[in-house]
Amino acid sequence: MTLHLYNTAHRKKEEFVPMEPGKVGMYVCGPTVYDRAHIGNARPVVIFDVLARLLRHLGYEVTYVRNITDVEDKIIDAAAKNGESIDALTSRTTQAYHDDMAALNALPPDLEPRATEHIDGMIKMISKLIEKGHAYEAEGHVLFDVTSMADYGKLSGRNREEMIEGARVEIAPHKKDPADFVLWKPSTGEMPGWDSPFGRGRPGWHIECSVMSEATLGITFDIHGGGRDLIFPHHENEVAQSCCAHDGAPFAKYWVHNGFLMVDGKKMSKSLGNFRTVRGVLEEAPGEAIRLYMLKTPYRKPLNWTDYGLEQAKTEMNKLYIVLKDFDDVKTGPLEPNPEVVSALSDDLDTYAAFLKIQNLGKQLRREKNKAEQSRLKGQLIASGQLMGLLSMTPKEWFQGRGDIVVSVPREFTEKSGSKAVGDFTFWNEKIEELIAERDEAKKQKNYKRADEIRDELKAANIILEDGPGGTTWKRM
Ligand code: AMP
Ligand code: ZN
Repeated sequence: MTLHLYNTAHRKKEEFVPMEPGKVGMYVCGPTVYDRAHIGNARPVVIFDVLARLLRHLGYEVTYVRNITDVEDKIIDAAAKNGESIDALTSRTTQAYHDDMAALNALPPDLEPRATEHIDGMIKMISKLIEKGHAYEAEGHVLFDVTSMADYGKLSGRNREEMIEGARVEIAPHKKDPADFVLWKPSTGEMPGWDSPFGRGRPGWHIECSVMSEATLGITFDIHGGGRDLIFPHHENEVAQSCCAHDGAPFAKYWVHNGFLMVDGKKMSKSLGNFRTVRGVLEEAPGEAIRLYMLKTPYRKPLNWTDYGLEQAKTEMNKLYIVLKDFDDVKTGPLEPNPEVVSALSDDLDTYAAFLKIQNLGKQLRREKNKAEQSRLKGQLIASGQLMGLLSMTPKEWFQGRGDIVVSVPREFTEKSGSKAVGDFTFWNEKIEELIAERDEAKKQKNYKRADEIRDELKAANIILEDGPGGTTWKRM
């Protein structure tokens, strides 16, 4: 199957042809480790995880690289503010990032270079840029001279005024041109710094990715990804550095950028303070529901985050797991994703169309009477879900592993509880509490029939009630 991707560099969908048949190198800009990741930061992780899974399914040998930016001014500021060492801060937040992304079912990248392990390479690339007349030293800084590159601005398609405005570059007196950007800056006192021919200092953010991508994937590689906020200046500057250091050799062939995750129409960001951490949202919904919510919007479009949207995604995941639960005793057929799911994903990662197909597979399985066909559909459903990082659990793990629970209770209760999942019986812990309260009331009214019914309904969902002197408590079997 042919994969098509929207290439930001040419502003159109293109057929993906790797440089080397059968192999793909993909570099995605990773986090700056100074704080917990928010769900906006998780969007590219989920998107590129699906792309890596798809590429592998299509038979490519993939080298997926996602870096860690562990030297940057935000880190220096945060460590000072917290009163902790830079090492302690970056190790703590890197670990938290790994935990959060794993909880979203994102597979780890194949390589995870850290900026501080590549300082030598950065010094070498900067020296080369100076030698070739693309960079200059000024007051302890090294700056890239944007006027030295005819094509500067091509990736983002910005003109000069927009670049100066967009980069919000400080108009420092040591810059020859206001759009020139920093490759190296001086470090004073306690600041992290490395000795270099340009004095003790530290790298700028952009040079880090030029060097780490080359060290891991070579001068020219297939796919470069990240959020669309990185197109300018970060990726534009990576192109400038890498192409100029290598006499115009091409850098990334396909540029893939995800749209923003928004809150009330504004980009979710640390600086606006409108963010929700991944860890916080994981308290409300399982990773797969968060992931599904992200994948229901095409990756290039903005995604407005709401509690209702998350609740819906949770319900949709519940429904799929209910089907698997009801067909638990059916043998799982070959784990082959449905061809329509693969084809939707191959069309510039149309995760929404793919999900609709997955929902349909669930419905088909529910209606199917033939055992062999049930088995085949079940295998397809699971494999199709897993291609998107969904349905990775058993129904038992899904329903008992956390607060959401499926209870077999009358439909009237579903409606009374305000659940949007018409026809399903999806309950949260608080609903169980409500049922227990209803049972207490029924007992008081001597309506033992209803009280027993509630006990049995909960038992059917593996919830055991225990009556004690302090009232009724419940637990999972
Ligand atoms: P940062 O740590 O800010 O450099 O961001 C890490 C990654 O998250 C980059 O690929 C950003 O483009 C991406 N990102 C940050 N905020 C958002 C957002 N609100 N929506 C989607 N992607 C985002
Ligand atoms: Zn980068």
